[in-house]
Amino acid sequence: MPEGPQIYLDESKRMTGEDTFNFSCNPQKACFTACCHDLNLVLTPYDILRLKNRLGMKSEEFLRLYTSVHVGPGSGLPVVLLKMEEGTMKCPFLEEEKGCTVYEDRPGACRTYPLARMACRSRDMEGVREFYCTVREPDCLGFEDGESWTVSGWIENQRLGPYNEMNDVFGEILQAKMEAGNPSLNADQIETFYLGCYDLDRFKGFFLEGPTLDRYMEDEDVVKKIRGDELELLRYGMRWVKKKLFQGGCLPCGSGCGANT
Ligand code: SF4
Ligand code: SF4
Repeated sequence: MPEGPQIYLDESKRMTGEDTFNFSCNPQKACFTACCHDLNLVLTPYDILRLKNRLGMKSEEFLRLYTSVHVGPGSGLPVVLLKMEEGTMKCPFLEEEKGCTVYEDRPGACRTYPLARMACRSRDMEGVREFYCTVREPDCLGFEDGESWTVSGWIENQRLGPYNEMNDVFGEILQAKMEAGNPSLNADQIETFYLGCYDLDRFKGFFLEGPTLDRYMEDEDVVKKIRGDELELLRYGMRWVKKKLFQGGCLPCGSGCGANT
């Protein structure tokens, strides 16, 4: 992974719902847009869907032009990073005078800052347990004279609901990997992960148009639903990856029936 600026994650205080923090960000701050330079900005599957649609691109083109792929040192899974512009090291979506040019579709990490969301799940637990910590970028003046926010007020204000929901579906894959004993992936399996999670338009072509047995094994109503709804397609793609790589079964029956192998 490339080196980036040091950021500070304060894990000493775990915040939820009505817990408060102080923060204000606006163009009058001397640091305005400082946080949009020299970032290790990890893009989630849902970030990619929002950004490629914002830019009117297919996922393949967006990924090729704007991202670099690394293999996570701990997980062995592909991680997609937004490429900073060469020389200036600024985010490609930043215009110095205007600020963020993809603001309505900016990535979840940009929305969540100055918080970071930690989501925990386990086999014995229903759903996901979440908490938030504060994060400080070195040049950020947002904590000075900041407005008081509750965590839930910030989540609502930044419209983080769909980002968190889709990230939790993505998290199911990591949980399934752990439960399967953390197996290492070979090159074909890494490609499967990349296809189902990140390269949505190519997954669409592969799954809905290609000669894959997986589609014939699937319920017709499900196929119809994902054909007409990209969000459903992404949800399906991530669960397809989970089953295919870590649960050894097909989506229709959820067991190791061998139909997908
Ligand atoms: S996407 Fe927008 S908010 Fe996020 S780093 Fe780039 S310019 Fe800044
Ligand atoms: S550095 Fe902090 S206060 Fe300044 S623009 Fe970025 S988020 Fe806002």
